[in-house]
Amino acid sequence: MIKVFAVLGDPIGHSMSPVMHNAAFGALVMPCRYHAFRVRPSDLGDAIHGAKALGFGGLNLTIPLKEEALKYVDPDPIAMRIGAVNTIDFTDAGEIKGYNTDGIGAMRALEDAGVSITGKKIVIIGAGGAARAIAFQFAYERAEIVIANRTVARGEKLVNDVRIGLEDLRKDPSIGSIGLDAISGDIEDADVLINATSVGMYPNVDAMPLSRDLLRPDLSVFDIVYNPLQTRLLAGAEQMGATTISGMRMLVHQGAEAFRIWTGVEPPLDVMLEAVRGEL
Ligand code: NAP
Repeated sequence: MIKVFAVLGDPIGHSMSPVMHNAAFGALVMPCRYHAFRVRPSDLGDAIHGAKALGFGGLNLTIPLKEEALKYVDPDPIAMRIGAVNTIDFTDAGEIKGYNTDGIGAMRALEDAGVSITGKKIVIIGAGGAARAIAFQFAYERAEIVIANRTVARGEKLVNDVRIGLEDLRKDPSIGSIGLDAISGDIEDADVLINATSVGMYPNVDAMPLSRDLLRPDLSVFDIVYNPLQTRLLAGAEQMGATTISGMRMLVHQGAEAFRIWTGVEPPLDVMLEAVRGEL
């Protein structure tokens, strides 16, 4: 019997998840198929319980369902604190478990480039959904975090949420916030710069979240935007001799983590990377 997995979202046509997971299932000759379904937030509860009743193996969620999903799942500690779920697992015991693998995906993308985050100074540009998942995960892993956001109040709220949210897991996480226009002072001694905004994403491919002149050879620059694969920020960082990490790696690692949760099987990362690269 074929086990079905799916990603739910609206819109959903652009999702890379079906090609990535079907390539992995195919390479491991697992009797599984992965599909994409357009689901509105008001239908999410029915969709999740329907998938459970039909014996689906698991689900991914994308915009605009990640926050809404908390109402219908038993979230793990990090997903609960982030306030968003991107992976649902239907357990043999009948539970509907919720996880957020975006932060782990970002961490593994950096690890691929030999960059560890514990104790490192990491400047994250952005304070939206992706920045939030990364900030919680990285603060949990004891990184020193600076949030640089265009809208200062949103950055400050994220910092506050991380401090309160991690209170019982990590005493005094190192996290602060600045306006994007004040980033130069914090870039000077940072180890890692992460662009977690949509700046530079197709079709605005000429945009960059900060001046190239602020980048240095001993900085690791990670752009979570994956369309295009080589953003203007990454091209500029490469020219300045910095280590560069593409958002495609985060995309694949967040999917690989979901694959592990659902199947308990080690995912074929190279196959998944090639499938996504081909699609992009
Ligand atoms: P979001 O919640 O809408 O947040 C957008 C962020 O971008 C906010 O911090 C916003 O700042 C900032 N921003 C937007 N336009 C800007 C501009 N012109 N100048 C400066 N800052 C600007 O979006 P999200 O879900 O976090 O996604 C952000 C990006 O990450 C998207 O490109 C998405 O495709 C990508 N992403 C990649 C992965 C992956 O696996 N690689 C996973 C998730 C998301 P304000 O607060 O000031 O508005």
